[in-house]
Amino acid sequence: MFKRIASLILAGSLLTAAAGCSSDKDDSEKVEVVTTYSIIYDLVKNVGGDKVDVHSLAPIGSNPHEYDPLPEDVLKTTDADVVFFNGLNLEEGNSWFNKLLKTSNKDGKDAPVYRVSEGVKAIHLESKGLEKQYDPHAWLNIENGIIYVENIRDALMKEDPENKEYYKNNAEKYIGELKALHDKTVSEINKIPKEKRVLVTSEGAFKYFGEAYNVDTAYVWEINSENQGSPQQIKRLVDLLKERNVPSLFVETSVDARSMETVSKETGIPISGKVFTDSLGKPGKDGDTYKKMMEWNTKTVIEGLN
Ligand SMILES: [Zn+2]
Repeated sequence: MFKRIASLILAGSLLTAAAGCSSDKDDSEKVEVVTTYSIIYDLVKNVGGDKVDVHSLAPIGSNPHEYDPLPEDVLKTTDADVVFFNGLNLEEGNSWFNKLLKTSNKDGKDAPVYRVSEGVKAIHLESKGLEKQYDPHAWLNIENGIIYVENIRDALMKEDPENKEYYKNNAEKYIGELKALHDKTVSEINKIPKEKRVLVTSEGAFKYFGEAYNVDTAYVWEINSENQGSPQQIKRLVDLLKERNVPSLFVETSVDARSMETVSKETGIPISGKVFTDSLGKPGKDGDTYKKMMEWNTKTVIEGLN
């Protein structure tokens, strides 16, 4: 708490300092974009190309459900021409994103802040007491990824009309690639025998994936929050796994693996690989773009379940 107040005060004074010197926003030709996490960052890069400068708030490998913005994030958000967030209950931990918008003067009705999941068919959470909330992980169905891209395209065309054609063409080409990847994913997952198609992860991030690609899903906890990997949650999953012949378990690159390691020990089911959910891989490493992370996930799931 004290750390948080301190960082806000620091951000405030940096803000005042920045207001004194001329903002580089006016000098730069590029559209300054801020995204809440790395997956939207990559989608924006694909549509915006060299017309945009993009900054991701939650860094690669971190958890966008809960994030403590740094003074730099406040400055970038204040200066941003466009801000993109997922919505659907993703950036809700501690209300970090809403607080950041407020601090950065981007909480007004007309602020250029866009929810990329607009128009997605949202799925609700299923845990007791959470049924009214949405599951945020819509991007793990590539068809939803395409909706995200369309929203990003429309926002950039609106905020930077001079480069309308550029954004439109980039988006069209990229959407074509994503459509092909979606079809390929459907046919590859279909090769796994139906009874083996269970994707068990720490966080229940694969509902949209499961629905799109016809895979059952199970998890230790449903959504990242303070209450992760409790003994009750682990026991519930262990009991569930006893009823079903599951070939292997998976861990996520952006989540602590210890709970799943316990589940693996107690059930004797091996952990077969890492999947990407809330973050891309590091630049130059596996899964460092949205397309690559989705390809990686499919490959890893097929290897683990077959
Ligand atoms: Zn998540």
